[in-house]
This record gives sequence, structure tokens and C-alpha cells, in this order.
Amino acid sequence: MLVQVVELIEAKRRFAITSHIRPDGDGLGSSLGLYWLLQALGKEPEVIMRDPVPHSYRKLPGAETVRVTPAVDREYDAVFVIECSDITRPGLLDLDKQVVVNIDHHATTSPFGAINWIDSTASAVGEMIYNLCKAIGVKPSKEIAECVYTALVTDTGSFHYSNTTERTFKVASELLRAGVKPAKVSQAVFNNYPWSKLELLSQVLPTARHDETGRVACLRQTLEMQERTGALDEDSDGFVNYPMSVGEIEACAFLKETAPGVYRTSLRSKGDVNVARIAEKFGGGGHRNAAGCTLTGDWDETERNIVALLVEAVEHRSNGNGNNHSASDQTPTVGGNNTPTGQLPPTLIRGTLNAER
Ligand code: 5GP
Ligand code: MN
Repeated sequence: MLVQVVELIEAKRRFAITSHIRPDGDGLGSSLGLYWLLQALGKEPEVIMRDPVPHSYRKLPGAETVRVTPAVDREYDAVFVIECSDITRPGLLDLDKQVVVNIDHHATTSPFGAINWIDSTASAVGEMIYNLCKAIGVKPSKEIAECVYTALVTDTGSFHYSNTTERTFKVASELLRAGVKPAKVSQAVFNNYPWSKLELLSQVLPTARHDETGRVACLRQTLEMQERTGALDEDSDGFVNYPMSVGEIEACAFLKETAPGVYRTSLRSKGDVNVARIAEKFGGGGHRNAAGCTLTGDWDETERNIVALLVEAVEHRSNGNGNNHSASDQTPTVGGNNTPTGQLPPTLIRGTLNAER
């Protein structure tokens, strides 16, 4: 709870702050926002992450202080774990030996900390860090404000997603009063990519497919595409959103090959279609409309299976009850496993982009 977090901060001095592997805008913005808050209180904070700060977030105040490490290798009074569903998500060795404070806004987060402050009504953990400032009596500095605003703007999809509330705008407005320039943040975060991202996108977009209903899409990125374009791991961030811009598409999967037969998978949906439940089936997690997991297997079979699950989630939502037939009952072609790699899976239809895979 918030009150326990306040008491701990007041009582202790040396803190580490971390977030999940491949940190995103909320993970980094909230971690650095908390860093500046603790600095303002005269504490000794340090942000540690398993993975480096992605290019988009290098201009965040304090980004250069983030220490990349595979383990919690120093003495701290407590470690704040930001935006993580369980204690393994930060990817840090020896984290379980620390006094852990779990701060998250995912409803499904497990209470793995000595203190657990979970607020699933917050649009981003950034909003919670802002509330922490208020609770502890620190006026948000420009640094805190820029970090927290970045968390808000990224986790709400620039205030587009359904987690955007009246409170989100209220907090954002306070942050602007504290000195945030939205155009400057957007320029740094959304218009600051390397050319390799565009080259990678030009390889990935022609793989776009949709199912027979036209409501579920998928995209893939092979290891070869990444090698050919010299792209960074983070360059594929956001690719899953391209099919979602099509009116009829209600859910999408982006499969990114990270090792032969291993796919980091991003799932997105609109409205009541729940993709977090699908990600959880494969040991992943996230929110109703944005989730992720890792899948393994043959390309086409894996793609077909995840598309079938998305079709099922869309059907389930449309009928408004849990008693309808599953998509795999209705679509016998889904689930076969003999399609040779390179051929179109039977239930997937080329979009208007016609290039061969
Ligand atoms: P993305 O597709 O952008 O990587 O992730 C979308 C959302 O799902 C984010 O909120 C992210 O934290 C969550 N997510 C992605 N992958 C995983 C995972 O493997 N485990 C859990 N628990 N959440 C994930
Ligand atoms: Mn978040």
C-alpha cells in the first residue's frame, strides 16, 4: 500500500529501482521519476536494469545514470520493482534476497514484494509515482515531471487507449504546469528513430496477413530480417500497431523470431477483446488490450495457433457470453501442423501487401 511505501522511504536511505527486461516508457519513466523523487528527499537511489535504455528514452532526465547489470550486486535497504508481474520479470539475479517493494498497475500482478502497492486504476505506474510525490510532500520538479509524463504518454498510446481517464489528463496538466513541454517529449520519444527501423519495417510489413473474418491480423519478423537490416532489438517496438490501424482489425499478433523457433510475441486488441488471458496461457502477461509472451515451434503452425486463439477471443467478446463455440470448433482448417514454411497458412489471407515471404 501507498502508506507503507511512504513509511519505508522515510525510514531508509539506500534504494535501488528496477523494472522489467527490455524496459519501456512506463518502466523507465516511472523508475527515473522515482529516482528524482528520492533524490529530492536526500536519499541515495540508483536505477539498475538488466537491459540498456532504448534509444527513444535516452533523453529522459537521468537516463545516463541507469546502471546495466545482470544482478543486484550492491547493498540496498530496499529495491523498488516497477511494473513487473512477478519477481523474475526484471531478469536480475539475487533480487529475491532483497527487501522488495512491488509497484504496479497491472491487475494480475502477484504480491511478490515485502510491500505491494498495486493500483489497477492508474493509467501508468507514472500516475502512481505522481501520487507518491503528493503523499510524501514533494513538489514535482521538471525532471520528475518529464519522466512521469513520458510514462503516461507511452502507456496510454499518446492518450488514445482505454486506460486514459480524467485523472490521467489531470495529472498530465499538473505535469505541464511543472515544466513539461509535450512536443519536446514526443519529438524525443516518437520522432527520434534510427533509419534501420524504417528498413526493418519495410521487411516486416509485407508479411501482414488477416484471417478469413478480416478481424484478426498477424505479422512476423525473422532473424534474417533483423540481420539484413542491421536493426536493433528495440527497432521493432510498435510494429504490432500497424495492422491495428485498419478499421476492421480487432486483434493482432506480432511474432518476432529471437532464436530459431522462438518468437517474442506482442498481442494487441481493441475494446473488450482480452489478449492478456491468451498471453498468460503461455507464461506471459500484460493488459486486456496489450500483452506479450514467448512462443516456440514451427513458424506457420505457431502463427496459425495464435491467430486461432485471437479469433476465439474476438468471437467470445462478440457473443457476449462464454458459451459460444470456440474458433477452432468453427474453423477446422486452424490447428493443422503440416503447412510447409513459406506457404500461406490456410486460414490466413494476404492483405493488400502482396510481397512473398
Ligand atoms: P509488448 O508487446 O509491448 O512487449 O508488451 C505489451 C504489454 O504486455 C506490456 O504491458 C508488457 O509489460 C506486457 N508483457 C509483455 N511481455 C510480457 C511477458 O512476457 N510477461 C508479462 N507478465 N507481461 C508481458
Ligand atoms: Mn505500464
